[in-house]
Amino acid sequence: MDKIVALCKRRGFIFQSSEIYGGLNGAWDYGPLGAELKRNLKDYWWKSMTQLRDDIVGFDGSILMNRAVWKASGHEATFSDPMVECPISKKRFRADQIEPMSGTVHHLRAAVKTKSGAITPEHFQVLVPKGKPVESAQKVMRQYLTVRGYADTDILEIYSDKSEPVENTTLFNSENGAQLGEPKVFNLMLKTYVGAVESEDAITYLRPETAQAMFVQFKNVLEVARKKLPFGIAQIGKAFRNEINPRNFTFRSREFEQMELEFFIKPGTGPEWLEKWREERLAWYEAVGIPRAKIHVLTVPEKDRAFYSQGTYDLEYEFPFGIQELEGIAHRGNYDLKQHQEHSGKPLEYFDEETKTKYLAEVVEPSAGVDRTVLAILCEAYEEETVKDEESGKEETRVVLHFVPRIAPIKAGIFPLLKNKPELTTLARSIQKTLQPLMKVAYDEAGSIGKRYRRIDEEGTPFGITVDFETLEGVKETSTSATGAPIAVGDKDTVTLRHRDSMKQERIAIADLPAYLLTKVS
Ligand code: ATP
Repeated sequence: MDKIVALCKRRGFIFQSSEIYGGLNGAWDYGPLGAELKRNLKDYWWKSMTQLRDDIVGFDGSILMNRAVWKASGHEATFSDPMVECPISKKRFRADQIEPMSGTVHHLRAAVKTKSGAITPEHFQVLVPKGKPVESAQKVMRQYLTVRGYADTDILEIYSDKSEPVENTTLFNSENGAQLGEPKVFNLMLKTYVGAVESEDAITYLRPETAQAMFVQFKNVLEVARKKLPFGIAQIGKAFRNEINPRNFTFRSREFEQMELEFFIKPGTGPEWLEKWREERLAWYEAVGIPRAKIHVLTVPEKDRAFYSQGTYDLEYEFPFGIQELEGIAHRGNYDLKQHQEHSGKPLEYFDEETKTKYLAEVVEPSAGVDRTVLAILCEAYEEETVKDEESGKEETRVVLHFVPRIAPIKAGIFPLLKNKPELTTLARSIQKTLQPLMKVAYDEAGSIGKRYRRIDEEGTPFGITVDFETLEGVKETSTSATGAPIAVGDKDTVTLRHRDSMKQERIAIADLPAYLLTKVS
């Protein structure tokens, strides 16, 4: 994981937000390559949903919504995690995600002097690994007392009242052994005020999921889209959650993007659509470079499902830090429409022309994270290989990102073999101009050709196009474009096409490049 994080920074995929000010935990910036990668991924999702199917329409809702939405959806009351705090480091942890620890727990007592001079007892528990002396626990207690405002001279005595072995407890901070505080419920929504006055009436939240706007606008969309059930509304957008401890690079962030589909269905067809969407989504991940074999489909047991869910699959990926969720596919019944109908007083029912009946549609929701998918794609694509250098023939390590071409940030690198030969550079520039309207390409003339290949390998660019002396020999006809740049037109005018994964090189006619590359990247 460290190598992937380092590569992301080195090559400009992902940077820490506000880095020059020490960063902001849980927020990330996508650099030039990351922004392209993320955009390609979102475009492909959007295309799969709204272009390649005719039963889904697109939507782009606002981030800020009337607070009533969050009351009706249940988020204001229940979108929370239990949180515990370390009294020494003040770090907060999700109570259900604490690392279990084993060792010896010391029940410590201290006699301390208060500001008024009175002597008072203090109690604290510290867990130390088995075999560690009690002094190490006492040291932690001393830190605890310091945090509570006692000077060293106020601490008269610390002793262990009792010690006992424990197995797999989650009551202590694994970083320092300190006893964690009582769990408190912590709402994950980021609160904000709309308008000039910071009053109770002005409160709303940055949306914690994109879904609600699609439920609230169900009737409007239905009227204009002229669709019958089953049909879906698809949306990509930012969501915000005040996660207790953001971690694992971009995996758990406070600001992230979701790709959500609300697929509205007739009552009673939920189980069938849940299966269909699981298969559709697995195929989609395969198409963006995450093989089926790397995705674990978890059938979420009833006790772990959201209370409204009638069935949920979690699609999980084998990240280097563990198997974790990429996407949840849930049959939410008619919970959302029902809530909004009740709270708003506006009918949200569907009139079924066939049966001449009115009812609330149910929904199956595949909800995926853009950032988590980008991270999974990076992890899947990353490889270190020992290869023979293409110029010197010496063995070396090559770092390569095997992105599938449709997702790769840059589709082709265009290289004149030498930068001081205008015949080569002008022709390379003209190839760049031809390809630019079709796809993202990059021109590079700096360094040896081997170095340039290594650079595009690390960036995950699937094709290298080199204009070399053989090209010049082949160029029999050159005409001039409106900008004065020469354009190679002859069938025999060829360049070297180098494939990133196999490192194989072949010759291809310049005239064939656009069609060839388009079939590969689309
Ligand atoms: P988790 O259990 O990991 O907190 P969740 O089950 O709460 O996730 P959902 O509410 O189902 O997540 O959100 C749908 C998708 O949105 C997730 O599968 C994930 O890809 C993405 N997502 C949710 N929370 C975050 C986050 N904090 N950072 C990045 N992506 C997130």
